[in-house]
Amino acid sequence: MAVAPSTFEDLRVATLHDVDPEVAALIGRELERQRGEIELIASENFTWPAMLEAVGSVPTNKYSEGYPGRRYYGGCEVVDEIEQLAIDRARALFDAEHANVQPHAGAQTNMAVYFACLEPGDTILSLELSHGGHLTHGLKVNFSGRLYTIVHYGVSRETNRVDYDDVLRLAKEHRPKLIVCGGSAYPRTVETPRFREIAQEVGAYLLCDMAHFAGLVAAGLHPNPVADCDFVTSTTHKTLAGPRSGFVLCKEEHAQAVDRAVFPGMQGGPLNHVIAAKAACFRIAASEPFREYQSQVRANADVLAEALQNGGLEVLTGGTDTHLLLVDLRTSEWTGKEAEERIAEVGITANRNTVPFDERPPTVASGLRLGTPAVTMRGFDEDDVREVGAIIAESLRPGADLEALAVRSATLCRRRPLYPGFRGYCAFSHDGEKALESGS
Ligand SMILES: *Cc1c(COP(=O)(O)O)cnc(C)c1O
Repeated sequence: MAVAPSTFEDLRVATLHDVDPEVAALIGRELERQRGEIELIASENFTWPAMLEAVGSVPTNKYSEGYPGRRYYGGCEVVDEIEQLAIDRARALFDAEHANVQPHAGAQTNMAVYFACLEPGDTILSLELSHGGHLTHGLKVNFSGRLYTIVHYGVSRETNRVDYDDVLRLAKEHRPKLIVCGGSAYPRTVETPRFREIAQEVGAYLLCDMAHFAGLVAAGLHPNPVADCDFVTSTTHKTLAGPRSGFVLCKEEHAQAVDRAVFPGMQGGPLNHVIAAKAACFRIAASEPFREYQSQVRANADVLAEALQNGGLEVLTGGTDTHLLLVDLRTSEWTGKEAEERIAEVGITANRNTVPFDERPPTVASGLRLGTPAVTMRGFDEDDVREVGAIIAESLRPGADLEALAVRSATLCRRRPLYPGFRGYCAFSHDGEKALESGS
């Protein structure tokens, strides 16, 4: 039972469960949801308990506008060391000349680069959203589409891979100031050397947005885009498995412009607790166990693609070089929306996604995007993922026994428990334990 604190003294030492059993119970329920479903959303992951610990820690209390050694507040000597560690580790991990670790999330990393090298009205050449791009690469209703002139390249109709001849043709025609490569639903290697050639030919800056595949880069399983690009942006919460956040890497010549774009250009005080988590995230990402994890993510993605194809489904480009793949439903009875809802009924979470040249609107779409970082984090191996592929394929057959399939999903989740060591909903909290009891 929660005891509502009745005095200021009580409140100062009260737990979340004590002050707000309602929110505590909801957090508990969210953990149970995560534990009980097979998570295939390609952009999601289950971060390390160590990250939850850092994100729930006291540097959140500290104001530190500015950069290490150049702050607008006193008392920054410790957070200076934290941020410098994060910067040094990000640079070492990706072999970059400069790193800014203050962006709050992925969207802010791209805003920082645009602010650093463009003026409103300048032209950006980027991957079409329906071909796998991202909303911050020029969607009309996003700041990127409102502030800049956007031209999109796409993938080839034959191969569904980036059409580099098309990129070059558009670059020559539109003379963009910035070319953006990378995206959120592109299953193949982003070939930055080819983008580099095109950018050089037309005198454009080159940005690679590796938000999705940064973990693979850190583990040496996707080519490192850093040497080829003026700027590289990333999240830390997708394959990289860190806190929900972002960072920018760039050449030394752009360091000052990027730093000024982030602060004072677009953000106030940095989230020092999250920067602490990022520092630890980069340390983990440089380790052998992390390479082991990423290798399993890749192996699982290949097996999932194979199992889906064996089950009669079509996989865009015939497979994947990364952690994600797209089921192409155009030759099936299903829309993306219907398929997403159907697999949810058997305990599998994923998202509908447009496929290139999709004739359905994005709210319906003709594809299903699937990724393996989250299930791999909870211990799924090739056999488990083969079973997941079979469950998906069978659930999309007419007359499928959905109840039996849901039982098979639940069996997998029980065999591979998520956060098994937790006492309650936090890594190290007794309070969460109480909340879980009252929440369920
Ligand atoms: C996820 C993603 C982002 C944005 O990240 P948020 O943290 O959601 O703001 C940017 N670019 C790409 C390619 C992404 O996949």
